[in-house]
Amino acid sequence: MYEPLLLDLLRRSGVRATFFVIGRNAQAYPYFVQDMVAGGHEVGNHTYHHVRLPPLPLADAMGEMRLASETIRALTGQPVRYFRPPGGEYTPETLHAAESLGLTTVFWTDDPGDFTNPGDATLESRLKRQLRPGGIVLLHDNAPEMLDVLRGFLRVAREEDVRLTTVGGLPK
Ligand SMILES: [Zn+2]
Repeated sequence: MYEPLLLDLLRRSGVRATFFVIGRNAQAYPYFVQDMVAGGHEVGNHTYHHVRLPPLPLADAMGEMRLASETIRALTGQPVRYFRPPGGEYTPETLHAAESLGLTTVFWTDDPGDFTNPGDATLESRLKRQLRPGGIVLLHDNAPEMLDVLRGFLRVAREEDVRLTTVGGLPK
């Protein structure tokens, strides 16, 4: 429900981001995914049902990745390049499976814990402390508070003179 506001905030800030979307949600809200692409954002794969992969038989884990990629590709017209496993949980087998589907598995260097709702001041100081060039910051978009979190983060990045971009936009 907050996605349009989030995308609007990014647009007004001139910032592009990578969204790791759940295939089932992309299917349910295709216009949000299309708005992401229209805004110059990157859309990554976060499985179809948001399931933890390690306990699954490998064929099922691959099915989750493949179905999410197919769903996103159908909506965006672009191949999906990046994958983030739910909970950050993986095995060597899931990494190889992602690779075989043309996906690079992407983790993060900074998890400020926005989903635990520690309060804006705490989040902002965590973001500020860990912000650095080449870092990947993990944020969630499923609670209204995230708009305040993102607003604070954009301000911190501006103050620290760190330019924000997509995963694909990171220097190699
Ligand atoms: Zn997740």
